[in-house]
Amino acid sequence: MSDDCLFCKIAEGKISSHKVYEDEEVFAFRDINPQAPVHIVIIPKKHINGLDNVSHEDEQILGHIQVVAAKIAKQFPEMKNGFRVINNCGEDGGQTVFHIHYHLLGGRVFSWPPG
Ligand code: AMP
Ligand code: ZN
Repeated sequence: MSDDCLFCKIAEGKISSHKVYEDEEVFAFRDINPQAPVHIVIIPKKHINGLDNVSHEDEQILGHIQVVAAKIAKQFPEMKNGFRVINNCGEDGGQTVFHIHYHLLGGRVFSWPPG
């Protein structure tokens, strides 16, 4: 837990969210400002500022988040034809909440390259 971190507070239930998945290490909830019909934010319960702040010891949790993303996607018919997983890192990457998180988006066709 990091003081004054929005996503730490969401993971601890101190700020309410629409939870879609939780286990010992990970918490996932609906994005408050969805960019697709299904937009879920997946976070580790451990506070890490961003992908530019990870170390060797985070390999397990980062891998676990990808497996969780695939597991959640399987629960949504909107994502049966595919989905997108995104990490925004740092100011140029569009990160606005500095607790590492992955966006799981689905239910529409996504363009490439992203904006
Ligand atoms: P990023 O811009 O990659 O840092 O993503 C942060 C995401 O968190 C944005 O998509 C926001 O809409 C989302 N967000 C911010 N506050 C909340 C909240 N209280 N509940 C759910 N999602 C949130
Ligand atoms: Zn945090």
